Amino acid sequence: MKRIRYASEDGLCTASGIPATNNQAAIVFRHFFAKAAELKSPREIGMMREAGKIVAEALAMCREMAKPGVRTIEIDRVVEALYVKYNAKPLFKGYAIQSVKVPFPAATCISLNEQVVHGIPGAREIRDGDLVKIDTACKLEGWCADAAITVMVGDVRPERRRLVESGQQVLKIAIEEMGRRRYWSEVAGQMQRFAEGTGFSVVKNYVGHGIGRTMHEQPQVPNFVNREMKKQDFRLEEGLVLAVEPMLNMGRGDIRVMSDHWTVVTVDAMPSVHVEHTLALTRNGVEIVTA
Ligand code: MG
Repeated sequence: MKRIRYASEDGLCTASGIPATNNQAAIVFRHFFAKAAELKSPREIGMMREAGKIVAEALAMCREMAKPGVRTIEIDRVVEALYVKYNAKPLFKGYAIQSVKVPFPAATCISLNEQVVHGIPGAREIRDGDLVKIDTACKLEGWCADAAITVMVGDVRPERRRLVESGQQVLKIAIEEMGRRRYWSEVAGQMQRFAEGTGFSVVKNYVGHGIGRTMHEQPQVPNFVNREMKKQDFRLEEGLVLAVEPMLNMGRGDIRVMSDHWTVVTVDAMPSVHVEHTLALTRNGVEIVTA
């Protein structure tokens, strides 16, 4: 699950001029420090890795289950049971944000074809040729991990296949570049250049996120570069842990949220791909926490 991008989170950047009073300055400074990413120690990354292994196991099971005739709720139940087995907390279930009154009801987001992200598992059956995007996150002994896959079911049309492979390649670029660039914007630029070079569109309404003790931490992790995100650019340093999650649409990048308050679909009803890993920047390079 990803963060909705909030322009108001610009904080200092949108504050015009110098605060009038010391009190206001204190508020601005608190806001500034609240925005800094919390860096994790090797021990903490090790704890996140344990949560990540469970997420990886859950997604491997989902990949096996995503076959024609299977209802998406059946997949969700299996993931939830796995979390129960490991005494891990499903982070999506009951997740609520201020702007949405209805908490998310399941352990996984399962989004088919034109559904981009945040699909609610239910009675809908998977069909041959579908793109099934499964996103899930759990917390184990206080530490979180979050990942997503896109499964190509059966006989997938070539253009859909190319879309999925492009999304996977964008994530691969992020993993490779994160270890050798100084700022996130350099990585995001590479991701965007490749994505747009394929002729597909980058979804810009949602971004990845820092992750650790909670699922959504600072910083925001866009899959693109623009003026607004550039203001929130951050340095890539040891101990940073990010959930990186590119979303590409076959048609236009525009999306809308359905009346169930959660499911995000493409406006032009063309298919979309979403893949995600939790990645840690360590002394030895980039570690895939959710592998
Ligand atoms: Mg996420």
